[in-house]
Amino acid sequence: MAQIIDGKLISAKVKDQVKEQVEKLNKQGVSVGLAVVLVGNNPASRVYVNSKKKACAAVGIYSEEHTLPEETTEEELLSLVQKLNADKKINGILVQLPLPRHIDENKIINAISPEKDVDAFHPQNVGRIMIGEFDFLPCTPAGIMELIASTGVEITGKRCVVIGRSNIVGKPMAMLLLHKNGTVTICHSKTQNLAEICREADILVAAVGVPKLVKKDMVKPGAVVIDVGMNRLDDGSLCGDVDFADVQETAGYITPVPGGVGPMTIAMLMQNTVTAAVLQKNAVVITD
Ligand code: NAD
Repeated sequence: MAQIIDGKLISAKVKDQVKEQVEKLNKQGVSVGLAVVLVGNNPASRVYVNSKKKACAAVGIYSEEHTLPEETTEEELLSLVQKLNADKKINGILVQLPLPRHIDENKIINAISPEKDVDAFHPQNVGRIMIGEFDFLPCTPAGIMELIASTGVEITGKRCVVIGRSNIVGKPMAMLLLHKNGTVTICHSKTQNLAEICREADILVAAVGVPKLVKKDMVKPGAVVIDVGMNRLDDGSLCGDVDFADVQETAGYITPVPGGVGPMTIAMLMQNTVTAAVLQKNAVVITD
């Protein structure tokens, strides 16, 4: 029976550390601020934005929300991003995705100052991750690395399989595992023999968006299984990409949904915002 990786507990520890860092910075007269931008009425986005604001309040980060109507033009959004780029109170800018269809997401991401890009989606930050010289890591893959570390399982030399090749999860996830010396395979919607490839994985990360795609017969006994999926079922419940009840019998470690990767993503956003403030203000977190 797999050990459950408790993302709630681990994220609470990260947030405690962030809170301490913020307190120390505040004592030095350095404030930390995050702007969250929400365009339109996507209910899931509303939930994520609320969680982010709540987390800011809990760790002492100043936050402001900019809610814009669905019909906001690309120019209007770009102009808000420019304003936030120049705003000294704001160290991190997060534009909640997805954006309405008439707005080019890439254009908006490219407009965010790389120093304030706490999601690490700007091409400059993506490139720096590729070469292993980064200030920020994208929040979800960074959180997953913490979850894997919590198991004590070494990544070096292990077979790692990431299902999903999105720019925000799959690709950076694979890169981080590679930086830690894993032997990494990326699978996607056109992959043949998915089950066979997954069965080779000592560390399996599912970031697909298909409820319960990963079954017991796709998991190597004892493997670390990380479920990134957040799928809303018709009855309103939340379900991962892994069939938890089935896979729990085979895996060595497994993340639940909810309570696994989700809380870590927000904790890492808090950490990235502090890092951004420290870099922009040439500050150091003085430790006692
Ligand atoms: P995406 O839709 O951008 O990418 C999905 C990927 O899965 C694609 O690369 C596609 O090729 C692959 N795929 C689709 N069907 C497949 C199949 N049958 N077999 C193998 N591969 C297949 O999604 P995303 O943004 O990477 O998100 C993935 C999931 O993770 C979603 O459920 C999303 O809600 C969730 N998510 C959770 C968090 C969190 O904090 N917990 C953060 C980001 C995304």
